[in-house]
Amino acid sequence: MEVGINIDRAKLLISETKLNLKSENIQLSDSRGRILSKGLASKVNDPRFDNSAMDGWAVKEADCKSNKNTVLKIIGSIQAGSREITSLHRGEACKITTGAPIPDGADAIVIVEDSKTEGENVIISGPARKTFIRKKGENLSKGNEALPKGSYMTAAAISLAATMGHDMVTVYKRPIIGIISTGDELVMPNSEIQDYQIYESNSFGISALVEKMGGKPIRYDLVTDSVDHLRKVLNSAAKECDLLITSGGVSMGDWDIVRKIMEEEGDIVFWKVKMRPGGPPIYGKWKNKPIFGLPGNPVSSHLVFLILVCPWFSYTYGIKETEMPNLGQKVRVKMNDEVRGAKDKICLRRIRIISGSNGLEATVHTHQGSGNIHSMVAHNGITLLPEDTSAKTGDIIDAFWFN
Ligand code: AMP
Ligand code: MG
Repeated sequence: MEVGINIDRAKLLISETKLNLKSENIQLSDSRGRILSKGLASKVNDPRFDNSAMDGWAVKEADCKSNKNTVLKIIGSIQAGSREITSLHRGEACKITTGAPIPDGADAIVIVEDSKTEGENVIISGPARKTFIRKKGENLSKGNEALPKGSYMTAAAISLAATMGHDMVTVYKRPIIGIISTGDELVMPNSEIQDYQIYESNSFGISALVEKMGGKPIRYDLVTDSVDHLRKVLNSAAKECDLLITSGGVSMGDWDIVRKIMEEEGDIVFWKVKMRPGGPPIYGKWKNKPIFGLPGNPVSSHLVFLILVCPWFSYTYGIKETEMPNLGQKVRVKMNDEVRGAKDKICLRRIRIISGSNGLEATVHTHQGSGNIHSMVAHNGITLLPEDTSAKTGDIIDAFWFN
């Protein structure tokens, strides 16, 4: 077991636990946020045929070079979805709509705004442009694998899959993530509460994060600070889930039962990571299932998820973290407030990032305590302040901007 490691080392150790996710075929319309486990090749050329990018007139460019009022004879009209493709000769124009196939012989389009019809003729007053013809296959050729294995299905990717002729996709099955909150002080929101108790919140936020990362969360009933109780729940979760996430009980205290049970009966890969907040996470295995022990402080559990559990998802899906745009992105920001760093740890202060006239700027608005989950709502990002550094007003620093 390694203790007190830096984030990169922790991520490397996490990446070494490989999970073989199964695949399933699902409807394209249900695929938002899923990850392809099999690449998708186009069944067609895109565009399928040369077609007009504009409403206007299909013409021969050479006929319209003079830029004066050119008179062309109207030979017909062709619209998107039309089967009729006439042939066009010099001195002729064919009315055309966006998406309609280009008549044989035409090589340019004049937009409708640059034309006037007079009886059987059209008078052209503007340029004829070849670039207004969308050429067959200029976007994709039949057989191109435009969505390779590992593609994250955004709205645009879903449109592209349909363009390529697919109504079903093969994706990784959602990993099932068991979420277990521990603590004698916890009661469920909206239940009767004593002076010494608090509402349990972490499992709700963590579930939402799991869903955002494409996992299927199972929230288990609250576990008291009892090793026996925890063992029972961990054992049943290990049977049902691909990954276990606990909250609370990972520090040095006598009641930190997640650390205790993992030390005595589990298999710890690492404990404590050089980040603040969120210093004492555990990663390891319970009954051969990977397990993250997140700290109980709400901001800490949220941020450890972001820094360590999100990468676990991308390793599991076999794709780069930067290609999973689920949670946000790393950016550079100019600080408009001072933020204090942490000794020997990366410091994740909550900041509000806005797009200013000279780039991204950040300010601080609430108390920064790791118990203050409101700080995660009142702000939309965090600093990534390197060990032993603080930032003064005007400094430009690394940050993470949440989506
Ligand atoms: P622990 O990590 O168990 O020492 O808990 C650290 C702090 O986080 C304590 O103030 C706990 O009351 C609080 N806490 C632990 N678990 C939760 C939870 N599930 N929801 C909200 N707060 C929690
Ligand atoms: Mg506790």
